[in-house]
Amino acid sequence: MADRTRFGPAGIPDRFKTLIETVSDVPMLLHAEGLDAFEYPAVRWGQTAQIKKENAELLGIRAKENDVILSIHGSYYLNLFGKKEIVEASKRRIIACAQAAHWMNAYVLVFHSGFYGKLEKRFALKKCIRELENIVELMESYGIKDVLIGPETMGKASQFGSLEEIITICETIKQTKLVIDWGHLHARGKGSFKEKSDFRDIFNKIEYRLGTKALRNMHCHFSKVEFSEKGEKRHHILGNSDFGPDFRLLSELISEYEMHPVIICETPLLDYDAIEMRDTLQLTLKL
Ligand SMILES: [Zn+2]
Repeated sequence: MADRTRFGPAGIPDRFKTLIETVSDVPMLLHAEGLDAFEYPAVRWGQTAQIKKENAELLGIRAKENDVILSIHGSYYLNLFGKKEIVEASKRRIIACAQAAHWMNAYVLVFHSGFYGKLEKRFALKKCIRELENIVELMESYGIKDVLIGPETMGKASQFGSLEEIITICETIKQTKLVIDWGHLHARGKGSFKEKSDFRDIFNKIEYRLGTKALRNMHCHFSKVEFSEKGEKRHHILGNSDFGPDFRLLSELISEYEMHPVIICETPLLDYDAIEMRDTLQLTLKL
């Protein structure tokens, strides 16, 4: 659990790649930049963990030494709403990530749940709850009890993961973490976040349904995002004023609600923009 608002990149920044020998060197470089979170990218993994146990454990040790909190982003190739074989394979992919998360002491496993396909939304929600409950049982049967699961809010209308759906899942399943991707919500709502009150409405809804602690400790993804009628198209850097949402508005709310979320930067400038967000929040807190 974060003791203050923490910032870090989604994955390894490109320019780190010539500086590191293994991923366990990443926390030291982040610490040197004044960052304190890292979302390990397991986004192309299959049904087995693609990091060795000892390397994952070393990453965990180095993260702790450098005061960097770890999360893990699960495979993009998941769909909990498809045919039985696809759902079962998706669950094995999630378990593989949960295993690695356990080794490296990542506090949350973030993932995209999948596509509604032909399922009616209310049935998709029920199915998602059933499959996630099964995943938690499987994790426990493998001795993985310290990793929270975090299905995130998604940016396309065809994807499961509206705010309402994610809140309902967090209300229903104990071993979940609220994961809000602000860029995705902005795209899904075709430009939802125009002013501070647009964020405030969501904060209030989360606090009412899940409580103050869940609100204050949420895990966030942030990026500026371009969208079409169907939702999210692509991510943009913070400095691009053609696209929203504006991080300054979110940072004012973070200050007002005395929050300490973990904020993972998903713009193309992973660590640079994480630093910019950190500095923006620090300025807001001083005002
Ligand atoms: Zn994601």
